[in-house]
Amino acid sequence: MRVIDSHIHFPEDKIIDDGKARGASSGTGYTSGRSPSAAPGAGGAGQGSPTRSRPEAWLDTEKARWEAAWRFPPAIKVSLEEGERLWDAELDKYEYLKAVVFVTAGGNGFASELAARHPGRFLAYAHHDPELPDAPERLEKAVKKGGLKGYKILAPKVSKPLSDPSFDPLWECAQSLGIPILFHFGIMGGAGGIASQININPLAIHDTAKRFPRIPIIVPHFGCGYVFETLNLCWACPNVSIDTSGSNQWMRWMPYDVTLESLFRKYRETIGPSRILFGTDSSWFPRGFTQAYLDVQVRAMADVGYSEDERDQVLFRNAAALLGFREPAP
Ligand SMILES: [Zn+2]
Repeated sequence: MRVIDSHIHFPEDKIIDDGKARGASSGTGYTSGRSPSAAPGAGGAGQGSPTRSRPEAWLDTEKARWEAAWRFPPAIKVSLEEGERLWDAELDKYEYLKAVVFVTAGGNGFASELAARHPGRFLAYAHHDPELPDAPERLEKAVKKGGLKGYKILAPKVSKPLSDPSFDPLWECAQSLGIPILFHFGIMGGAGGIASQININPLAIHDTAKRFPRIPIIVPHFGCGYVFETLNLCWACPNVSIDTSGSNQWMRWMPYDVTLESLFRKYRETIGPSRILFGTDSSWFPRGFTQAYLDVQVRAMADVGYSEDERDQVLFRNAAALLGFREPAP
C-alpha cells in the first residue's frame, strides 16, 4: 500500500493567510477546536442541567464526545520547529505514507519553507484570503517562487459569492498556473460552527467550475453534508473531484443514514474512482497522522468492492497526478 495524505493542516490555529505578518503567538497553537474545560472529567458538562444554565456546555460535550469516540489524546501545543519535526517523523513512522499535503500552514511563506525543506515528502498549498486585493499576484508568487502546489479556500469565510466577477482574475491565474483549488464547503467547525453562509453550498462553485473547466476543483470531506449537491456538481463539472478527509462526523447530523460505505459506493458509481482523493484532515499532536481514518476508509472501500488498483488510485495515484508528485529516488 502507498498513500498520499492529500489534506492535512500544520498544527496552528491560523488557517487563512490574511496577509499580515505572523503574530508572536502563532506557531504554538492548534487546540483541536474545543476549550480546555471540555476535557473529560473537567466538570461542567454532564452535571445537573448544564444545557439549561449554560447552553455552550452542550457544544463542549459534543466536541469532547467526538474525540472520545476516536480515543484521541488531548492536543498539545507545539512550536513551529517541533511541528515540522513531528510531521517529518510521522512519514518515517508509517512507511506506506509517501507524502503529506499541508493545505494550511499559518501562511504561504511558511508553507513554502516547509515544502522546500522536505522535498518529495511535504507538499503545500497557498491559503491566503481570496478577497485580498492582490490575491492573484500572491497566488502566482506562492506557486512560481514558493513552489506551492494548490490553493485552499474556506468558502464559508468568503463574503462575496464565489461566482462574483471580481474573482475572475484569481480563477484565471489559477487556471494558467495549472494548480488545483480545494474549497471547503458545508458546516465549518462541527458543533457550534458556521452552518449558514452565502457560499456554504458546493453548488456555489458550479458557475466558476463551468467557466474555468481546466481548474481542478477539490471538494473535501465527501461534500461535508451536501452529498446531493456535491454529486450533482461532480456530474455537471468533470473538473471537480472530492476528498475523503476527516472523521466525516457530519454523517451524524444528516436527515437520512449515510455511511462511509454508502459514500464510497455512490461516488464511485457517479464519477468513478479517478476523482476521489484520500485525506485525513490531520493536524495536531500527539495524534499526528490519523491512521484510524485510513483504516476505516480502506475497509469501507474493500467492503463495497473497490479493487486493489482502484484503492491505489484513491490512496495515491489521483493525488500524485493532480499535484505532479514524484517519489524521490531512494
Ligand atoms: Zn481541513
